[in-house]
Amino acid sequence: MLTIKRVPTVVSNYQEDVCEPLGCGRNCLGHCCLPVSKLPLYAFKRDATSPNGSSSTAEDPSSGFFLHFLILGEWEDRMSRGLFRYDVTACETRVIPGEYGFIAQFNEGRHLKKRPTEFRVDRVLQPFDHGKFNFTKVGQEEVLFRFEAGGDSRSQFFESAPVSSTNPPNVVAINVSPIEYGHVLLIPRVLECLPQRIDPESFLVALHMAAEAASPYFRLGYNSLGAFATINHLHFQAYYLAMPFPVEKAPTERITITKSLSDRGVKISQLLNYPVRGLVFEGGNTLRDLSDVVASSCMCLQGNNIPFNLLISDSGRRVFLFPQCYAEKQALGEVSQELLDTQVNPAAWEISGHMVLKRNKDFEEASEAYAWRLLSEVSLSKERFQEVKAYISDATRLEESKEEIDANENKGTLQASPLATHLQEGFLFFIE
Ligand SMILES: [Zn+2]
Repeated sequence: MLTIKRVPTVVSNYQEDVCEPLGCGRNCLGHCCLPVSKLPLYAFKRDATSPNGSSSTAEDPSSGFFLHFLILGEWEDRMSRGLFRYDVTACETRVIPGEYGFIAQFNEGRHLKKRPTEFRVDRVLQPFDHGKFNFTKVGQEEVLFRFEAGGDSRSQFFESAPVSSTNPPNVVAINVSPIEYGHVLLIPRVLECLPQRIDPESFLVALHMAAEAASPYFRLGYNSLGAFATINHLHFQAYYLAMPFPVEKAPTERITITKSLSDRGVKISQLLNYPVRGLVFEGGNTLRDLSDVVASSCMCLQGNNIPFNLLISDSGRRVFLFPQCYAEKQALGEVSQELLDTQVNPAAWEISGHMVLKRNKDFEEASEAYAWRLLSEVSLSKERFQEVKAYISDATRLEESKEEIDANENKGTLQASPLATHLQEGFLFFIE
């Protein structure tokens, strides 16, 4: 249950009379302007699993405050101010007939008006480049609020709060090229200019955001470099779509894990009958329990230069991890022209079953077979997935049961095997 002491009307900074302009004058998210800003602050409770039975007082907000008022309400405000590059609410969406219920959206604007990618896609970890586009250059009118850790058991909202030196500001901003209603970006510790790379603290903030939103229809996604992230500045995406994603309905098979993980309440499974092989992490006695396991898995992939995507689902209770190789196949010329022609970049949303299509023809003709063909190209092979799973096992000290190991795999232990060297050697090409 959310507990917020004050539920004021959120007003924009810009409604205030600014007699003395502060910062660089552009009102940006850089060191010049953010520390002297008065952005709204949502301070989330640190203990997301604390019992809340006694905390329902007259001060309590409705549980929809964070999602419906703060995120979606403010997002609509930015839409009415014309800050988006196109109107995503006018984009047509349909459910593709079939067993899985893939969702197709026709979105021409994103294709035409997206910020271009400016870096190598063969390296999952790349240093931050201040010369390229990054979120410190964004105007504060694109920011909805700051999202930072607050007290232990209750969340609070402040219309404006000074940036403190102890709490580096995480900001939630609109994605000016949205792919759905309420499409926002969570930018952890924006002033630190972190490259696109998972770290335990930032991932925990993303889980907290999902938990505070408390809706199965508000998910967060993450794309690593090499898996269709387009900006090398740490960010998660999130949006609201009131439909189940196909991956959320896919069957799974439990992986046996070590006692230390099960003591922390974490369960790990593998997706079955889904075109992209992936792992599902869920549970945890606290959000941190779940967060730590996922973060160490991601850091393991990053360290081995394996691109991946994440979907944070079920209000932060479930996380899907997809190592992927589409960009690599693209570079090696192994993707069919038919798929390349659709110019779909299969990132977290597409992999989860929400296909954003750029051509009307593809939208009209989209079938389950097409979605399956595209996503199959994204997936690691069975052999490579086993290899990657072994790295993750090492990193998180999973322990697979014997039954789970396929007889064909011929692996008696979970020792990491050498990574396919072509990944480490790298390949080079640019998108756009
Ligand atoms: Zn500035």
